[in-house]
Amino acid sequence: MDSRLFSACLLLSVFLASSTIALGGADNGAGDNASAKNVIIMIGDGMGFPQMTLARIEMSGENLTRYASTELAMDGMKHSGYVSTQSANSFVTDSAPAATAIATGVKTNNGVIGQDASAIPKVKDGKNLTTILELAQKAGLSTGLVTTTRITHATPAGFYAHVDNRDNESEIADQLAQSNVDVILGGGLQYFIGKNDTLFPGIESRRTDNRTVLADFARMGYVSVFNGTAFNSVDGNKTEKLLGLFDGSHMLYELQRESFPEKEPSLAEMTEMATTILSKNHRGFFLMVEGGRIDHAGHERNLSHNVADTLAFDDAVNSALDFARQNNDTLVIVTADHECGGLVLQPENLQDYEDGLIDPLFASGTAHVTGPGYDFMVATGEATHTAVDVPIMASGPGSELVSEGRLDNTQIFEIMREALNL
Ligand SMILES: [Zn+2]
Repeated sequence: MDSRLFSACLLLSVFLASSTIALGGADNGAGDNASAKNVIIMIGDGMGFPQMTLARIEMSGENLTRYASTELAMDGMKHSGYVSTQSANSFVTDSAPAATAIATGVKTNNGVIGQDASAIPKVKDGKNLTTILELAQKAGLSTGLVTTTRITHATPAGFYAHVDNRDNESEIADQLAQSNVDVILGGGLQYFIGKNDTLFPGIESRRTDNRTVLADFARMGYVSVFNGTAFNSVDGNKTEKLLGLFDGSHMLYELQRESFPEKEPSLAEMTEMATTILSKNHRGFFLMVEGGRIDHAGHERNLSHNVADTLAFDDAVNSALDFARQNNDTLVIVTADHECGGLVLQPENLQDYEDGLIDPLFASGTAHVTGPGYDFMVATGEATHTAVDVPIMASGPGSELVSEGRLDNTQIFEIMREALNL
């Protein structure tokens, strides 16, 4: 090497070394405008503040003394705040516009995924929006989606699909097959097999055509697994693209799944697998993880599933935070798309109040009935989403931005985009 070139190289490496030190210093200090290599967004579907409180009460063994020092993994994150969730056309959002707001920074109408508010649900397409996942792909980052619902369900779909109707899950599955997302884990096989496929006894195709979409993934070189045993045999360090679909429709609730680990992995195990696979990309990755069935338990007014799935989601948060502790250039954000159930942590009566007991109930989806001498609420059907603000917690580079007063869900997109410099 000529000596002038050598000294130029030396100078350059000294410069690079010092700029690395400067960046590292910013990351470890206040963290202002620090950039992140990886972003993990975790969405507890239907997980409002009361769902978190109740999970904590359960974790403490319903013991008031222990409760004071009981912490969920998400409670220990560095910054926290709250988020308003209304959609373009309703105070009460559903998961489709909520996911779209988080994924694209734009409000849209209930039922619409990845399109702006000019879309008329089930009638007319709007303008397609660009998602944070698509921006990350363009910048060369790896991407992943992990959920306990069908992978074609509204929350994960908000990150890759563009449809005027969240129920068009055949179309959404087709769009997933074209999305080039590297790690795809969840339920929903029924939209990936054709009517005459006999590969999965007991699972019937719900597709509007006869296509076997699984074949597309096989052609593109995905490793495909369909049960917990096969999932456990995957070596994340040697796998580039992974498709895991573990149920015809949604995956099991955690309380049911625990007895069948050979059938379905846990949300925490899927999160760990995703970070192992995606972190091999030296440019970084974007990962969305959804605890999707907290919402379903809320709709069904099922307290035990609501609590257990919130705790399983928290285990997944812990797995993501473990990764972030080893890789401190990772921004982890935990939030919800909306509250579900109108969960009230109330004493049933004055005596319970004095005895320190609570009798939680899902108060939404109820109607006021009045008559001569009575006035009470009756459940009219399933519990519903509500308009209340939801929690947001974050740690890692850029995380301080979640604690600057009330956030709108569209701002979560901006926080992620800025952190990744996209
Ligand atoms: Zn819901």
